[in-house]
Amino acid sequence: MVTQHLYVNANGIATTITCLRCGKTKEIDVTHMKNVHLPRKVHCSCNATFRIVFERRRYSRKGVQLFGKYWNSHSSESDAVVIRDISHSGIGFHVPSKYLKDVDVIEGMRPGDCLHVEFRLQGPSNPTISGSIIIRNVKKGGYFGGEFYAQDDSAEKRVGFYLLSQ
Ligand SMILES: [Zn+2]
Repeated sequence: MVTQHLYVNANGIATTITCLRCGKTKEIDVTHMKNVHLPRKVHCSCNATFRIVFERRRYSRKGVQLFGKYWNSHSSESDAVVIRDISHSGIGFHVPSKYLKDVDVIEGMRPGDCLHVEFRLQGPSNPTISGSIIIRNVKKGGYFGGEFYAQDDSAEKRVGFYLLSQ
């Protein structure tokens, strides 16, 4: 079962769940939720079932310039990306070829859409990070913010080690 890590918003109370199958989103107020840190199952109206884990910590983002690529399994589109910041929870990235596009017309790259990304961290062994993200925000000029999900443990460890060692 897929596990999504959800990070509580800056206001500390609300977060958004996105169904990975149908893309439906739901705002959740965690203020009065008991045992917030425990994983829980979510059933969507489309019959998808997945696990969510709320994270209260907001990890610091580190500014980087790392090169990689993404691909979209729905549209089969693939393109070069520049990772601009990275944290345990996700990445901010730029797609140079999208810089002139209107933010509303980028098919397959709207908030809630899923992409697979792969990039290399800087370091002695240049570890490759490969994982899926959900797009959380889209800005003019081809800038995107994405949140990791279904990241394998070793990728998460590599990101954690990278953030610690910098
Ligand atoms: Zn759904």
